[in-house]
Amino acid sequence: MNRENRKQRPGVAGFTLVLSMMLFCWPLTYCSADSNRAEAAGGDEDVSDKIVKPEDEWKDQLTAEQYRVLREKGTERPFTGTYNKFTEDGTYLCAACGEELFASDTKYDSGSGWPAFWDTANDSGVASHDDSSLGMVRTEVTCSSCGGHLGHVFEDGPEPTGLRYCVNSASLDFQPAGEAAADVSAELETVVLGAGCFWCTEAAFEWVDGVTDVDVGYMGGEKKDADYKRVCSGQTGHAEVARITYDPMKVSFQRVLELFFAIHDPTTLNRQGADVGPQYRSAIFYTTEEQKVAAEKAVEALNAKLADPVVTEIVPAVEYHLAETYHQDYFRNNPEAGYCQAVVAPKVKKAKKL
Ligand code: FE
Repeated sequence: MNRENRKQRPGVAGFTLVLSMMLFCWPLTYCSADSNRAEAAGGDEDVSDKIVKPEDEWKDQLTAEQYRVLREKGTERPFTGTYNKFTEDGTYLCAACGEELFASDTKYDSGSGWPAFWDTANDSGVASHDDSSLGMVRTEVTCSSCGGHLGHVFEDGPEPTGLRYCVNSASLDFQPAGEAAADVSAELETVVLGAGCFWCTEAAFEWVDGVTDVDVGYMGGEKKDADYKRVCSGQTGHAEVARITYDPMKVSFQRVLELFFAIHDPTTLNRQGADVGPQYRSAIFYTTEEQKVAAEKAVEALNAKLADPVVTEIVPAVEYHLAETYHQDYFRNNPEAGYCQAVVAPKVKKAKKL
């Protein structure tokens, strides 16, 4: 927040440092106060969550304390946080998403028991919202990128801004000076999926926000080489697959799995409709242990709902054979083809509705 923004916030100039510390601390009752604050901020229309994830994913990603503070607007006990007395040079990032929030050269000891900063690292990383919980108006600050709760800002800080960003250590990660910025959005992941004809699988995923690349090929055969003619014969053991590269900060693997299971029938062994043979088998070739666990959970959940058992293979990714050029982007390049009209287009339409 810069000084201009400061003028737009409701005034709390009459509060003394001691009083604002008391309001932030709300000693011994902070657990019940947390839920009040959550309700108050939950209706704030200004919260801009560019990164949206199901809560169970945040729970998996964050520690219990980070989740309580960042997602449930909790407050850590004063004088207990990692960064309260921390004085190293560097940058403080959002512990949930890596967004740059505060610079160490604006950090100071407010005596409140929480890390305090007199300014944000830039104009875009931190958002502010009215918080009328606890029977008074305060200004809550959140991560602009993921909406994670950071703390509050008060107008009793030092010059040159006169602001005090009172922030929970649990909401922060620290990047020492000189280290390259953690570009979490650049850490792409890949999974290889078999869901019948690979024209369908590719087309169903190409439009998905957060999917950065899709191509088609063959995987999982006994033979060393693979090409379309030999794979179609069913003699190589390869499956037709789409190799999907995605940014897990923009699209979750659970979302990838949701689409995968929606665009094909995972209960038919070596068959998708009229396409019959092992090359059309349902398969997840995972590249990380997390993907394996998530896929197994998804299958378990599906088995609880479906009449027939899921036959999807969940196996490690092995050698990938990129398919011939004319198979790449087939639906995009041949939208009027009969198979595309009859089989691919409905699957794309279904996927876009999910
Ligand atoms: Fe964040």
